[in-house]
Amino acid sequence: MRYYLSLCAASLLLLASCKQKEETDFLAANIDSTVKPGDDFFLYANGGWIKKTPIPAAESGWGIGNLVNEEIYNRKKKINENAVTEKAADGSVTQKIGDFWFSGMDTTNIDRQGLQPLSDQFQSINKAQTADDIVSLTADLHAESVNALFGDYVAQDDKNSEVMAYQLSQGGLGMPNRDYYFKTDSRTVSVQNAYKTYLGKIFSRLPGADTSAAAVAHKVSAVYGLETRLATSSRTLADLRDPYKNYNKMTLAALQQTCPAFNWNSYFSKLGMHAPDTVIVGQPEFLSALSTQLKSTAIQDWKDYLTAHLVMSSAGFLDNTTFMDNFQYRQALSGAKEPRIRWKRVLDAEEGEIGEALGQLFVKEYFSEKARQRYSDLVEAIRTAYKERIEKLSWMSAETKQRALAKLSAITKKVGYPDKWKDFSAMKIDRGPFVLNIERANKWWHQYRFSKLGKPVDRTEWDMTPQTYNAYYNPSNNEIVLPAGMFAVPGKRDEDLDDAFVYGYAAASTIGHEITHGFDDQGRQYDSKGNLKGWWQPADSIQFTDRAGRIIRQFTEFNPVDTLHINGSATQGENIADLGGLLLGLDAFKKTDTYKKGEKIDGFTPLQRYFLGYAYSWMIQERKERLANQVMTDVHAPAKERVNGPLANIPEFYEAFNIKPGDKMYRPDSLRVSIW
Ligand SMILES: [Zn+2]
Repeated sequence: MRYYLSLCAASLLLLASCKQKEETDFLAANIDSTVKPGDDFFLYANGGWIKKTPIPAAESGWGIGNLVNEEIYNRKKKINENAVTEKAADGSVTQKIGDFWFSGMDTTNIDRQGLQPLSDQFQSINKAQTADDIVSLTADLHAESVNALFGDYVAQDDKNSEVMAYQLSQGGLGMPNRDYYFKTDSRTVSVQNAYKTYLGKIFSRLPGADTSAAAVAHKVSAVYGLETRLATSSRTLADLRDPYKNYNKMTLAALQQTCPAFNWNSYFSKLGMHAPDTVIVGQPEFLSALSTQLKSTAIQDWKDYLTAHLVMSSAGFLDNTTFMDNFQYRQALSGAKEPRIRWKRVLDAEEGEIGEALGQLFVKEYFSEKARQRYSDLVEAIRTAYKERIEKLSWMSAETKQRALAKLSAITKKVGYPDKWKDFSAMKIDRGPFVLNIERANKWWHQYRFSKLGKPVDRTEWDMTPQTYNAYYNPSNNEIVLPAGMFAVPGKRDEDLDDAFVYGYAAASTIGHEITHGFDDQGRQYDSKGNLKGWWQPADSIQFTDRAGRIIRQFTEFNPVDTLHINGSATQGENIADLGGLLLGLDAFKKTDTYKKGEKIDGFTPLQRYFLGYAYSWMIQERKERLANQVMTDVHAPAKERVNGPLANIPEFYEAFNIKPGDKMYRPDSLRVSIW
């Protein structure tokens, strides 16, 4: 349900002395006036900026989120550098941040140690002789967040949001998803080759192993073959969308029957948890296939597979050669020309392990109470707009409308940052090997998440840090979560942002988008309490599905890179949310003084500025490798289509920019999609 890959964070920076009006408006400065708005609005709005902004060699794309993140990186760097020199109390947040930074930046020791910090784990894997040993190793690796065999996690039961449930999903692949193993276009084949080359490098460098060319080639082919067989039984991105088909609750005995070759009781006991009475299995046929593979694949091949996955998961925290081998494979997926500079990679890792601790420092300085109130009020303006739209819908019955309105009014909003912060005191961070800090932090997270099993649901928790440029709707809590970072504009203070811009940038693309997720193809299947439970009259469901079908067809026509078309089914939820967000933002905006007065702001009518503000939230350029990867693995369409796709359905957009038949984005009334 998440909103985007990454982007933004409160830049409410400085500029304290810079109160006077800028000479060129920041939206006007980004425009490419050689492009007609009706031909390609994304490029019209952002093309000027794109032309003068090269993608840095270390990045796979560059956009507004990167601009904001640059500011955050610099702030975090300062916090880390200060923490390193401070004599902080052992166990304090400052000590952990300082030591994390120290160990991550200590390249002399990291390079000298090579793969040595993993030697205990290599040995454990080497000792394995039976399928039960593979079970035990899987438990150890999962506790450290190594991707192997399958995925498992503890989360709210989809059908009973009051209960935390143990859940299993397909997983264990080295490439991003099943399609990478089977597609035969040249870009995918080059990713396959890069991956095989990478596996070869891993096996050539293993201490104490047979590293002859023949032995390495055998291992590569065995691991690649095993993963291909697992991929065969994995579901596609579109097939993962149906929450009912991906919900299969069973007893432990039934799980053992579904996947008999894996001893689940020993797995749970190795993890130190009580075996759950019931489990929710996403894809039972995957577990059955895994069981077959456990019986038919040689133990040595499983050991090579686990070794490769351990190295892959740890590569970012090990010596330069190990890191670069991994980077060279990832280049085929990202197109980046060189790695991100080391200090930023250390901060990326820190964000993942202990980001909420940094968040406390972040919001204190960069997200005022006033800003928090502004966006909280915007949520209510959007909620009201949605209420009025639902009441007016021509295709929905009164019964379903009543349920929809009840769900809408029950949506919880979380704005800016959590009221209660996580306690990291039991996470041990020291100045020893970087990779071991990561391992311990991952174990802390595993323990933290798994200990929720059987406990009451904590609905106050956040799954993103406050400084994240992203947002989400969580169907189980029927809540929208909007981190402070999402509202930031590079180089601007919040109070300097005009309403026309903010309604496009924040109300439409974030708040309206997330609220609409509660009513997209997946979200609509959950009720006001967050339970997967039908509340639609059958005829209304048919109406909805018919309308969703139109947006699926609209997006399937887009062809962003090579011969790849957007997967209209897999991306429908996001596209429905974008269209809904724009319409809700517009309704709410029409009630503001700015809109009613109709005075131009920096040369644009309020309506034009609203759409430009929306396009600004998607200002980005990406390398072809990343675009291809996104089209194959992401439920979000690329940025350009997220602008041009929904806008082409909105009459006010045609009016604002005088779009006429013959313009490339023009769609006749009969093709315009209208859902919410
Ligand atoms: Zn979304």
